[in-house]
Amino acid sequence: MPFHYSNCVPKSDSNATEDILKAAANPNVISFAGGLPAPELFPVAAVKKATNKVFDQYGQQVLQYAGTLGYPKLRKQIAQIMQDRQVDASVDNIAIATGSQQAIDLVAKMLINPGDVVLVEDPTYLAALDVFRSYGADLVGVAMDDDGMQMDDLEQKLAAHPDAKFIYTVPNFQNPTGRTMTATRRERMTKIADAAGVPIVEDDPYGAIRYAGEMLPPIKHYDHTGNVVSISSFSKMLAPGLRIGWLTAEPAFLKKYSLLKQNADLHTDNLTQYIISQFLMDEDLPAHIKKITDVYEHRAKLMLAEIDREFPDDVYHSQPEGGMFIWVEVPGNIDSDELAKRCLEANVAVVPGSAFYSGKAQPGTFRLNFSNMNDEQIKVGIKRIAQVLNDLGAE
Ligand code: PMP
Repeated sequence: MPFHYSNCVPKSDSNATEDILKAAANPNVISFAGGLPAPELFPVAAVKKATNKVFDQYGQQVLQYAGTLGYPKLRKQIAQIMQDRQVDASVDNIAIATGSQQAIDLVAKMLINPGDVVLVEDPTYLAALDVFRSYGADLVGVAMDDDGMQMDDLEQKLAAHPDAKFIYTVPNFQNPTGRTMTATRRERMTKIADAAGVPIVEDDPYGAIRYAGEMLPPIKHYDHTGNVVSISSFSKMLAPGLRIGWLTAEPAFLKKYSLLKQNADLHTDNLTQYIISQFLMDEDLPAHIKKITDVYEHRAKLMLAEIDREFPDDVYHSQPEGGMFIWVEVPGNIDSDELAKRCLEANVAVVPGSAFYSGKAQPGTFRLNFSNMNDEQIKVGIKRIAQVLNDLGAE
C-alpha cells in the first residue's frame, strides 16, 4: 500500500549524521559525536525516592488525565527557577512541554506557515532546523562569532526579511558551537527585534550548566514587551529521559500553545511532572548541578588542553564556559562530511559541521561532545583526530 507522505516528512530516510552515530556504536570507535549527558551523574536514588513518595501520596491523581499547561505546583517551582535567573515570571507565564524539543516543535507549528522566513544562527541546533523545515520555513542564517549571533548581521537580515516570523537563538553554550551570546548583545537583540516587530524564540537548555565565567540573564530578562518566548528544560540539569521542559511566555501566547499541545498529547506525562516537583522540594538542585559542572569542567578543560597540544596551530576551536560541546574549524576547503568520514576511519566519531547550517555550510567544521567521555577516551580520541588533521595538512 503506497503512503503519500505529507511535506512534513523529510524526503530522505537517512543522513550523514545518523550514519556516523550508527557507526559510533562500534566499541572500537571513540565517539565525540553524541550529545548525551553523563549517565553516571543521574540522581537515580533521589529520583526513586521522589517516585515512591509521589505514589504514596498522590497515587490515583498522578495516574489520571491532567491539565494541558502542566502540574500547577511544578509550574510555580519553575517560575521560581526563572526568577532566580532574573526573569520576571509567575505561574501564569509557565507551561510544561514534553522536553524542550516539543516546545520548539509546537512554537514552530504556532508561528510558521509554508514559505515563512525564520532567522537562525549559522550554525545552529540541528533538530530545530529539522522542525522549522518540516513546517515549510524558509531558513535564513545569521552570522555568529565567539560572542554569539552578530547583531549587525541580524539587523541586515531583518531589513531584507521584514516579514520574518521569528528569530531562533540558543544563547548559552550553543549547540553545536559551545558559544555564549554576551549580555550586551542580548539586550540589543531585544531592542532590534522589538523595533522590527519580530518575536524571539530563546532556546536555553544549557544555561544552568556553567562551569566558568558569570551566569548571564536570559534574553527574556531584557524583554519588556512580551516579544520573547523562552524555552528551557530539566534534561541537562537532571535527566533527559524524564522529558520535562517548559516555556516562559505571556499568558495569551500560552493559551494558543495549550490548544496545539492538546492536539499533540493532551498533556505531558503527569507522573514525571510530580516526580520532578517532589525532587525539587526534597533535594538541593544547585548542589546537584554543581556535581555536573565539576565533572564537565574537568572534561572540557582536558579536551581543550589536548586540542591545544595536538591539533595544528591554524585550527580554530571555540572556548565554551559550560554546556557539552566544542566547535572546530579547519582552514582550507575540506568538505566536513569527508573530514568526519576520515575521522571515523581513524576510529573516532565527530558530527560534521554541514548538519548544522541552514544554508551553505562552512567547510572543515565539526562538533565535539565532551560530557560523556572519560579522560582516557578524550586523550586517545583527540590524538586520533590530530593525526587525521596532520595527514590532511601533508596532502
Ligand atoms: N535545544 C537544544 C539546543 C538542544 O541541544 C536540545 C537537546 N540536545 C534540545 C533543545 C532538546 O532537549 P530536551 O527536549 O531534552 O529538553
